[in-house]
Amino acid sequence: MKLKGIKIKLKPSINQKDQIDINLNLRRFVKNQMLAMQQARYGNGGKYLGKFAMIYCLKGLKLEFPFLKLAESTCLEYAIADLDQAYQRFFTGQNNRPNFESRKRPHNSYKSKGINNNIQVVDNHWIKLPKLGLVKAYGLERIQGKIKSAVIRKEPTGVYSATIQVEYEPNAWAKTGKQVGLDLGLTDLVSQSDGYKLKNKQFERAMAKKRRIWERKLARRRLQAKTKMEEARKAGVELELSDFKNVQKAKQQVARINKKIANQRENYLQQYTTKLVKGFDTIVMEDLKTKNLLQNHHLSRSIADSAWAKIKSMLTYKCDWYGKELILVTPQYTSQICSACGENTGKKPLHIRAFVCPYCGTHHDRDINASINILNKAFA
Ligand SMILES: [Zn+2]
Repeated sequence: MKLKGIKIKLKPSINQKDQIDINLNLRRFVKNQMLAMQQARYGNGGKYLGKFAMIYCLKGLKLEFPFLKLAESTCLEYAIADLDQAYQRFFTGQNNRPNFESRKRPHNSYKSKGINNNIQVVDNHWIKLPKLGLVKAYGLERIQGKIKSAVIRKEPTGVYSATIQVEYEPNAWAKTGKQVGLDLGLTDLVSQSDGYKLKNKQFERAMAKKRRIWERKLARRRLQAKTKMEEARKAGVELELSDFKNVQKAKQQVARINKKIANQRENYLQQYTTKLVKGFDTIVMEDLKTKNLLQNHHLSRSIADSAWAKIKSMLTYKCDWYGKELILVTPQYTSQICSACGENTGKKPLHIRAFVCPYCGTHHDRDINASINILNKAFA
């Protein structure tokens, strides 16, 4: 296992900014207290107190200064580890004697330890951080694997960021010497130049009945609640929709089902893209901006649209992470050119799923032929 740091942008709320300040201030307080203690010990002829002994002293410090409970606790331990490192460098002659951290030139970051999912990505828009709760964040899609720690930073410019340290398995991503082209479609979400096809699984279909039941329940309960609110108002009592527990429950159920469907689809694409990046060094796909397969806006199309966008984004960061290459090409003529002889066989309506090249007689699956052309385009 190796460790990798990923920097993300944070948008903390006012309360969260206050808590970050508290963590930074108390981190400095603990470090300075420990330094003062070490210096006093030294003055009295005592020996240097090691890292773990200092961490043990933290318990006493918390009793003496109860406000230390306001800080995120692991960042205080990291402050001690920092001090210990500064001392170790001093002992080996690499640095001067450690100094007190001044309020005027504050250290602008602190580190939190990842234990039991206390640091977690939620819905790709939020990151859960110890003592801060859910913080709005950007760039979270790049975080894959077990989170070991987070360094939260407050720039002097007022910009907040975090570096998330994650564990990953480097050996599984060795070079394979293989390349693949991808053609995106509706029935098969992806057709690969090596013949593999990824089905467009209809996750919402399996849950459709259940979802419909709860959607109807929700509509009915809302209506009932509205009547009751009206009656109550006449009697001089103001009720809110949130006062009706059964409405809230139905709402939650619908949300839960939608979330489940979204998770299933997400996992499906995560697994697929991981397999691709493991299996191939170079992946070629069409640039989605130019995709113009169907003009109508059916539900199935919009679902496929978002799946393709997700595949592209997952491949982008996974290739980046593991030293593989993603090449985007324009898909023009890729469904017309014969991948065997290179002749243009002309436009074909969408229902034609297979054809024989009139020039060389090769029998083609429409999508696989297109994916081979996409692969070839990258090397033309
Ligand atoms: Zn041909």
